[in-house]
Amino acid sequence: MTTSYIGRFAPSPTGPLHAGSLVAALASWLDARAHGGRWLVRIEDVDQARCLPGADELILRQLATCGLHPDETPLYQSRRGATYQRVLDALVQRGRAYPCTCSRRKVELALEQLGRPRGRHGELVYPGTCRPGPGPAPVAPVIPPPAARAQAWRMRVPTGVLLWQDRRLGAQAQDVTAEVGDFVLKRADGYWAYQLAVVVDDLAQGVTHIVRGEDLTDNTPRQILLLQSLGYPTPSYLHTPLVLGPNGEKLSKQNGAQALELDHPEAVRAALDSAATMLGLSAGLGTQANDTASALAAWVAEWRARWVDGNQMRPSYNPGP
Ligand code: GLU
Ligand code: ZN
Repeated sequence: MTTSYIGRFAPSPTGPLHAGSLVAALASWLDARAHGGRWLVRIEDVDQARCLPGADELILRQLATCGLHPDETPLYQSRRGATYQRVLDALVQRGRAYPCTCSRRKVELALEQLGRPRGRHGELVYPGTCRPGPGPAPVAPVIPPPAARAQAWRMRVPTGVLLWQDRRLGAQAQDVTAEVGDFVLKRADGYWAYQLAVVVDDLAQGVTHIVRGEDLTDNTPRQILLLQSLGYPTPSYLHTPLVLGPNGEKLSKQNGAQALELDHPEAVRAALDSAATMLGLSAGLGTQANDTASALAAWVAEWRARWVDGNQMRPSYNPGP
């Protein structure tokens, strides 16, 4: 048990919670409670164009209905622009970030010329076209020169394979240069990239343990690189199994996941039961306990035995059917 544990759930308010996001919410809450730690909620509303007005309040109400209460007032990323800018400035000063004026087409052409394939999900691996020479930038480039195109800011990725550990998935490795390239920290349209915002906020909130959906596993090496560039250690990671939709694809707000039905106690218990089952917890526990609070308490005990007490690594763990 650690008393310095801080965990978080960081939903994007693009719609209400669904069966998939409840799994991440429940897992992060269980891990925090099982460690005797604190659990925070952060509203990841940097990409205002994708956010749905009122979805933040709805998500917070849904969490409360499920008995998942944050230990602090939720943090909103949309209010943190000045902090993100300070961190980007620091990275630029250290020569770890630089401006990029490439269009998507220009990146495609550069990759064609280099005869390089796309990344593993078909996305473009930025070939470093705008990357300046080694060493810190000679002038503070925070005020951009009048450019023909708006500019994005990219992270200068060091070469080599990044190794890290996931508490559920075990040893992980990614060659970020080869698989992702110098990634975007601030977009040309002025929006902050998820990678920068999430790292800056996890640091600001003192997050020690990150528990979130497995769809984000691929992002973790980029976030570890950012943390290292800022001089911080790597937190503990646990990526939870994904809920798949009928088409076998990850259930998400984007592919039309249904909002959770939580309008009567039985529906709340059913939603929590299926989230717990996804996490490999005893399905019966929730339904036998006569109220939500005791069901949650039973799962905390089960979670602690499985994931906390001398058993941090279970690479062979498989969720129930
Ligand atoms: N906001 C992200 C999402 O909803 C989660 C970010 C994280 O947990 O690191 O998918
Ligand atoms: Zn560029």
